[in-house]
Amino acid sequence: MTDVVVVGSGIAGLTAALHAAERGCRVTVVTKGALPDTNTRWAQGGIAAVTTADDTLESHIADTLTAGVGLNDAEAVRTLVTEGPDRIAELVRRGVCFDRSPDGDFARGLEAAHARPRVLHAGGDATGAAIQTALGAAVRSSGIVLREHTALRELVLERGRVVGIDVETEATAHRLSADAVILATGGAGQLYSHTTNPSSATGDGIAAALRAGAAVADLEFVQFHPTALAAGEPFLVSEAVRGDGAILIDDTGRRFAFDAHPDGELAPRDVVARANARAMAAQDGRPVRLDATALGADRLAQRFPTIDAAVRARGLDWSREPIPVTPAAHYLMGGVVTDLDGRTTIPGLYAVGETARTGVHGANRLASNSLLEGAVFGARAGAAAATDTGWPDVDAPTAIALPDVPAPVEVPVFSRGALQDLLWEHAGLIRDDAGLRRAAGVLAAWADLPRPRSAEDAGLLLLARHVVAAALARTGSVGAHFRSDEVSASPAAAASVPVAQEALAC
Ligand SMILES: Cc1cc2nc3c(=O)[nH]c(=O)nc-3n(C[C@H](O)[C@H](O)[C@H](O)COP(=O)(O)OP(=O)(O)OC[C@H]3O[C@@H](n4cnc5c(N)ncnc54)[C@H](O)[C@@H]3O)c2cc1C
Repeated sequence: MTDVVVVGSGIAGLTAALHAAERGCRVTVVTKGALPDTNTRWAQGGIAAVTTADDTLESHIADTLTAGVGLNDAEAVRTLVTEGPDRIAELVRRGVCFDRSPDGDFARGLEAAHARPRVLHAGGDATGAAIQTALGAAVRSSGIVLREHTALRELVLERGRVVGIDVETEATAHRLSADAVILATGGAGQLYSHTTNPSSATGDGIAAALRAGAAVADLEFVQFHPTALAAGEPFLVSEAVRGDGAILIDDTGRRFAFDAHPDGELAPRDVVARANARAMAAQDGRPVRLDATALGADRLAQRFPTIDAAVRARGLDWSREPIPVTPAAHYLMGGVVTDLDGRTTIPGLYAVGETARTGVHGANRLASNSLLEGAVFGARAGAAAATDTGWPDVDAPTAIALPDVPAPVEVPVFSRGALQDLLWEHAGLIRDDAGLRRAAGVLAAWADLPRPRSAEDAGLLLLARHVVAAALARTGSVGAHFRSDEVSASPAAAASVPVAQEALAC
């Protein structure tokens, strides 16, 4: 019997686990926290798929390629979109109650940069939680072994093949052997001092794959959301709040978004995010404020119940006063290079979901395509892990070497916060050669001074070096990667995802 170890319990990992188990594998899911401690459970807006006759696969494919500025892998995009409807049917079978319209069809939201309404949601703005609950229940009743509070530390290789993982719990460290290991450890929002991601998003799987020698790509493409609450635990404030009339102001009360774009707060997402970043830089990093007071308490509570509750839980009354918000790292388009079945460049190792770089997102992710990616490629990887007998060559873009940059004269003391601040400042929304070189120098100096640091911090440091290297290597702006020092903005740089006024675009 094939032994499959899946690392991570979000949509990608749980889908992969279920598909491998249904094909007769002995499956273990290892996850760092409790089962629902994932990015998946926080997804608000929904999952994109073509589910009605008035929509077409070609339209969804075209929207995905446009958002990715054509840097996507066209075959991966076609696979994502074509297999999406089957994965939606599977989620329904597993118990996800997507919201329905009065006629019984799926209620479909129109989101940013989608030509048609095709975003399914559950519980209004609680789609991720509904998916997490259903898949978690399916795994718990399937005979799959679940090891919570167990963290991947290292991939184990023998003769160039992954044969297991080293894991750590609070009490012990031990080794799990496997015929196949599926990395589904999510993204790495914790690289940045502001993020919408929970604390578990430290890029552990990508770092472990890097240490094992797997190819990575597209790490310069980090999507930033314009408005995360800058009070307490990170929380995303949907673009729809601005669509409803909320405005952005700086410390002096000045409305600044029109300096950046004639559409002001309703300009494309990345334009607003950069406008916020510039305004914050001009006020010593203090958050800008989102003024939603004109909407009134009733409207805010009815239209945005989840956000309303989160804002009020932080002791803020946004019907009376502007709330602090910041742009925040939201989604990592790059990751471990895979083929269409999740195979990486190391035999025995698969990667899925936000950890993987399948090529579906290119330079920027289309809203609501990431849950879909987890479902589609999770299923494919689970099936492949169960049936693979050989290991085909997996194509990878040319590797980007870490730059050989001297350390600056003054190197700050390493800490998680110092690393996050460094990346926020120099490898965040607005990048240039000098800043990226400074970041590369500091990161190299930190790496050269081996100090006791947590496994997560060591992984973040390694990943940060590769993010900065990739951002240095791409000298022009494209998609989510903005270089303020390029000679002239390429046409691709202008392509960005516009705000959908009626959508919870996530
Ligand atoms: C606030 C927010 C809103 C979003 N809204 C949407 C949306 O509406 N639509 C959409 O499509 N996408 C949305 N996204 C993005 C989407 O939620 C994620 O990209 C997606 O859920 C990632 O799924 P995943 O299975 O790859 O990873 P995750 O769901 O993040 O799961 C990763 C798992 O790996 C585990 N893990 C991490 N490190 C280790 C380790 N060392 N050892 C063991 N386990 C480990 C974690 O604990 C977790 O269980 C949103 C993201 C956020 C943060």
